[in-house]
Amino acid sequence: MNPAFMVTALLLFQGASQAPAPQQTVLGSGTGFATPVHIINSHETGPTVLVIGGMHGNEPAGAEAASAIAHWTIERGRLIVIPRANIPALNAKTRRIPGLDGDEGDLNRHFPVDPEMEMQSEHADDLWSLIEEQKPDWVIDLHEGYDFKKLNPDSVGSTIISCDEPKAIAASALMLEAVNAARKEGSPSFLQLRHPVRGSLVRATCEQSVALGMILETTTKGQHVATRARQHRIMIHRLLEHLGMQPCDKDLLLPPVDATDELIHVALYDGPGASSAAFSTLLADDSRLLVRRLGPAAIQNGALERFDILIVPGGSGSRQGRGLGAAGREAIRDFVETGGSYVGACAGAYLGSVSYDWSLGIVDAKVIDRKHWKRGTGIVDVEWTDHGSEQAALGEGTHRIRYANGPILAPANRDDIQDYEVLGIYRGEIALNGAPTGVMPGTPAIVQGTWGDGRAILLSPHLESMKSDPEARANLLEYLQWLALISASKQGTGAGK
Ligand SMILES: [Zn+2]
Repeated sequence: MNPAFMVTALLLFQGASQAPAPQQTVLGSGTGFATPVHIINSHETGPTVLVIGGMHGNEPAGAEAASAIAHWTIERGRLIVIPRANIPALNAKTRRIPGLDGDEGDLNRHFPVDPEMEMQSEHADDLWSLIEEQKPDWVIDLHEGYDFKKLNPDSVGSTIISCDEPKAIAASALMLEAVNAARKEGSPSFLQLRHPVRGSLVRATCEQSVALGMILETTTKGQHVATRARQHRIMIHRLLEHLGMQPCDKDLLLPPVDATDELIHVALYDGPGASSAAFSTLLADDSRLLVRRLGPAAIQNGALERFDILIVPGGSGSRQGRGLGAAGREAIRDFVETGGSYVGACAGAYLGSVSYDWSLGIVDAKVIDRKHWKRGTGIVDVEWTDHGSEQAALGEGTHRIRYANGPILAPANRDDIQDYEVLGIYRGEIALNGAPTGVMPGTPAIVQGTWGDGRAILLSPHLESMKSDPEARANLLEYLQWLALISASKQGTGAGK
């Protein structure tokens, strides 16, 4: 090809509309608080919005939401995101910095309103310096309360606490309208509050007239992290729209999947009927994984597109299936059909089977002895099959695995679904609450099916549980790597993914 033509073609391909590459720096480099700062630019000048998550370590939704927002694109202005502002507290899952009490340990009490006074910690000073340097027009800090303000005046859950400035009040009214429109029927509405607490970052930015500010509070009580993180995203998204920044979709959670990306993108279902804590703990220890929690609304809105694997954990299969709704179940089927992997454990295995009007029907497996589904909990022996051991991933031998009312599986013999392969077999048995003995031993504990271009794996017991053999837990993590490597996306052929 003519070199001059090549240059032109390249410029055309890149196009004027393509946003400048996002930048990443580190705040507090060399300290225990070192944390990434994402700067998202656009071609058009406009407002700069700073979003901060994870200031308090026991409020996970803010960090979860900001980690997703860090991958958003905008058409105007600048977006700066610090997803995990307080890493020591986030790692300890505590409000305060480990080892420090009272306001000394509370990072969001380190910002004095008086410009003559010093910041109360080195990390607060670093955060403040970043604000002075980047000069955002808006500072939005993501937090969570323990109860709904509307029901319990002692908590600030489900509120926007805004600077007492007309512009900020007007913007927060729009954000409240958006988040309230999306909330579950019957759940208490978000309320407008003013006057952020003294010592908070947002109070300082307001009082020192550095920027307009808001604290966005969700409510931890009785709500999944995925639900709360989506509420944060809806509010930020509405603000960016209001400011004319033209953000991408609010359910964009990850950078695009591509063949050069070495991280495995894992979606962990966190909605009705899901208990995601054990998987969350297991996955958090593996730095090769990029994990996001998502619920039915995001799945229905196409959020799975950028993931390699969807994990549906234990809980209640019927509540999961019904909570996902027909649209959510169809989105999962499409995800697997186009090359994604489905891993369903216990309730998630019931969900993947063909047996119920709420199940996905992506593995040719039916649930037997359904009458005695509540056959009890305990530790049971599972033997990896030759097929299981051949897959470098799954290892070999017999393992002690946590069991909790998981499905007893058998071939469904459906013509429209390929037969599954058995990776693990129950050797032991649990038969309580009137369940007959002799049913469980010899049945498949782990099966791997094919659905379209993707794989669907049903785990009847809880390999992910802390009570399971540590080697089996490690095997499961290796198996996830293997699944992602054989998936279309990591081979660069992931059309539509
Ligand atoms: Zn907080």
